[in-house]
Amino acid sequence: MALANRVSPKSGVRRAGSGGSGKVALDPRLAGSLLRWYARHRRNLPWRRTRDPYRVWVAEVMLQQTRVETVVPYYLRFLRAFPTMRALAGASQEAVLRAWAGLGYYARARNLLRAARRIVRTGRLPTTAEGWRRLPGVGPYTAAAVASIAFGQDVVAVDGNVLRVGVRLLGLRKPCPDPAVRRTVEAALRVVLPAGRAGEFNQALMDLGATTCLLRNPKCGVCPVRPFCAAHAQGVAGELPRRRASRPRPHRQFVAALIRDQRGRVLLVRQPPDRVWGGLWTLPYVEAPSWRRARAALQRLVAVRLQPDGAPLRFEHAFTHFRAHFLVQTARPESPPGRGRFAPPRRPGLPVPAPVRRLLARLGKQPQQRE
Ligand code: SF4
Repeated sequence: MALANRVSPKSGVRRAGSGGSGKVALDPRLAGSLLRWYARHRRNLPWRRTRDPYRVWVAEVMLQQTRVETVVPYYLRFLRAFPTMRALAGASQEAVLRAWAGLGYYARARNLLRAARRIVRTGRLPTTAEGWRRLPGVGPYTAAAVASIAFGQDVVAVDGNVLRVGVRLLGLRKPCPDPAVRRTVEAALRVVLPAGRAGEFNQALMDLGATTCLLRNPKCGVCPVRPFCAAHAQGVAGELPRRRASRPRPHRQFVAALIRDQRGRVLLVRQPPDRVWGGLWTLPYVEAPSWRRARAALQRLVAVRLQPDGAPLRFEHAFTHFRAHFLVQTARPESPPGRGRFAPPRRPGLPVPAPVRRLLARLGKQPQQRE
């Protein structure tokens, strides 16, 4: 049913029903202004020079939770190592994780590999968002981004940046995250999506969110869609989206064993696939409040009895859902460890997560405590 809209003379936002209820729509002229702006101001990014679905997909997966500037060198290096879907599908998980090491959220890399193997094995490359959604690790945003950019499907791709832009354009006051707010934004954008230009439209919104409609201090003065923006018209751009009070992140305590051989190399173990750093190499560690409580489990992990040696080091790392406190205890094995691999701390030559790599670099600078 078409909405009986009333156009606000000030904002260009059409409202149906009571204000602030979320039943709002956008002015269709917005798309033209946005696309003209994008033609002049689009960011020059390596994945923008292609419509190869494999390359677009790799970029979109890397960009999840990660800033563009961080992604660019990883993207270029990853594509040098695995230039095609077939090359990726034929690679070992260890090689893929090594290329990914430092980007974080390693489930993305494992899923990318699983999905590439499935595509190559079945010979079926999806061309629609629905098809991409069926692949491991592909969510609604990535599916819509790949389908619109690489295949021209008329679907909207709403990531965090685009959601913020949409909330402001519509002037939605409901606190986020909220699935209803997301659905409202998606529905409103779908209505103004210019047929046949979804890839450009989605990328234009992404760029607007990344360069102009910033989280703090949106640059409304230079914004191409300001005439159509409810938040600007109402003077609340910087206050939207409203945030739900977030629950504090829980703290968890881990104990790691720092075991060196006579050459100063450090013992690393490969994490099982179901753990946070699944498939990556780290110091042997367990979740425990103290060395005394961790010792037996650590000994089982490396298949040797351990003696603590000196004062422990400490480091912290913030994961998405908790903050990890690591106590790193230097330990002497009573005989050669039965599990794990010794590696030079500064150049381990194995896929190692970034926080552990930073710790190893620190250890590499320290003189060995004692032979
Ligand atoms: Fe964002 Fe301001 Fe543009 Fe509205 S006018 S979309 S708040 S930058």
